[in-house]
Amino acid sequence: MIIRSAEILTSAAKFNQLPPEDKLEIVLIGKSNVGKSSFINNLLNRKSLARTSSVPGKTRTANYYIINNEFYIVDMPGYGYAKVSKSEKATFSNIITDYLKKRNADFIVFFLVDIRHKPSENDIKMYNEILDNDIYPVVVLTKADKISKNKRKQNIDLIKKTLGLDEDDKVIIFSTEEKLGRDEVWDFIEGFI
Ligand code: GDP
Repeated sequence: MIIRSAEILTSAAKFNQLPPEDKLEIVLIGKSNVGKSSFINNLLNRKSLARTSSVPGKTRTANYYIINNEFYIVDMPGYGYAKVSKSEKATFSNIITDYLKKRNADFIVFFLVDIRHKPSENDIKMYNEILDNDIYPVVVLTKADKISKNKRKQNIDLIKKTLGLDEDDKVIIFSTEEKLGRDEVWDFIEGFI
């Protein structure tokens, strides 16, 4: 993919603030701090278009990036961060839930999980909610450089088992440091453009 332009279009706090449903949307779902912003910057070869943070729970809106004036990348609010209030938590999950149920655009979902850890209860709930809407996400295992190759193998099996993935489900191993997974992600996206 040649990135001719990439910029933030809008940040929506509610479903009714989302832009018109006129372009393909590449949607990223995953808990706070899993690496969504880093994933976007890495895909787009930009240092800090999406703001990354070592402090979890920062992104509280659905952030729309417009790429080549042709499609969107959508950074959904991270879930599962303990330090937000109950009402804020409700707002986060509502925009994702509303999106999954009601959004009428063509979209692809990438579900991001940290390769180092067994998926949490929240991850499992979110993943199942996606499936319940007849959406089959690509699972992206982030931060692969942070563990050894042997440990990666073990954890991939554990994550697949915990989420209930089978052989046909697409899993991409990703690392911004080792530049792993980027081409595979673009190949997948290009199949829809
Ligand atoms: P978000 O909350 O999901 O947007 O997560 P961020 O993209 O802000 O990432 C959270 C933290 O993890 C940041 O400190 C990133 O630098 C770090 N991070 C993200 N991806 C990777 C990766 O592939 N390798 C390493 N070593 N760190 C990563």
